[in-house]
Amino acid sequence: MSVPWRRALVIGNWKMNLSVSMAAHTARSIAALVRDAPDREVAIAPPFTALTTVGAAIAGGPLVLAAQDLFWEEEGPYTGEISGPMLAEVGVRYVLVGHSERRVFLGETDRNVSHKVAAALRAGLHPVVCVGEDLEARTAGRQGQVVRDQVARSLDGVPRHEAARLAMAYEPIWAIGTGRAATPADAAEMHSLIRNELGAIFGESERSIRILYGGSVGEKNADDLMSRGEIDGLLVGGASLRPAEFGRIAGFRGL
Ligand code: PEP
Repeated sequence: MSVPWRRALVIGNWKMNLSVSMAAHTARSIAALVRDAPDREVAIAPPFTALTTVGAAIAGGPLVLAAQDLFWEEEGPYTGEISGPMLAEVGVRYVLVGHSERRVFLGETDRNVSHKVAAALRAGLHPVVCVGEDLEARTAGRQGQVVRDQVARSLDGVPRHEAARLAMAYEPIWAIGTGRAATPADAAEMHSLIRNELGAIFGESERSIRILYGGSVGEKNADDLMSRGEIDGLLVGGASLRPAEFGRIAGFRGL
C-alpha cells in the first residue's frame, strides 16, 4: 500500500471505446460501487465525446473525471485538438499525458509531452505523465535508462512548487493490453527508479507525487501490485470497461 501521505489513485482509461450512452451507463455502474474513502481516489477517463455526459452522471459523488489527452495551446487554429481550459470547463481533474499509444501511433515525443504537462498545470489540471519502455529495451536490459530519460525530458521545465499536482504512470509498453503484466517486484523496481529521478528533479517535493502502475491490471493482480509500498495506484485500461471488476480493482467489492 502507498505511504500514508500519498492517497492511492486508480484511474480507468476507456481509450477509444463506448458510445456516449454506453459511457454514461458504465459510469453510473462504477459510481454505484465507489464510495468516498480517505485512502484512495478513483477516476475514469472517457473519450472526449462523453466527458460532459459522464461528468453529469457522476456529479456529486466521489468518482472523479479524467481526460485522455490535451493540446498545449489554449485556443486557436488547431483543428481537432482540445485544450486544458476546455477540459477544466467540463469538470476534468486528471489528464493523461504521453500515453504510449499516443507516443507509438501518433509520434508524440517527450518534448510534446513536456508542453502538454505545462499546459495542464496552467489550466489547473493534474497531469498524469505516462512513461514506459518497449519490449526491445526490456529485452536488452535498457529499461532503466529509457524510463529515466523519459521522466527527465517529459518533466522538463516543471517548477518544483508544481510537483504536488503531478502524478506519474509507469506503463511498460509490452504489458499494455497484452495480458502480460509486470510482476509486482519488477514494477516496484521501476517505480523506485522513477522516484529517484523525481527526487533528482524536484528534491523533497517528490514525496507527494504518486506513481501508478499500468499494463494488464485486472482483479487477479491488482491487490498484489497495490501491496507494494512503491506503487501508489493503478492505471487500468481494458478492465476499467467492466464496472464490477474495476470496482474490485479499486478496492470496492460491491454491496
Ligand atoms: C492503459 O491503457 O493505460 C492500459 C494499461 O491498458 P490495459 O490495462 O488494457 O493493459
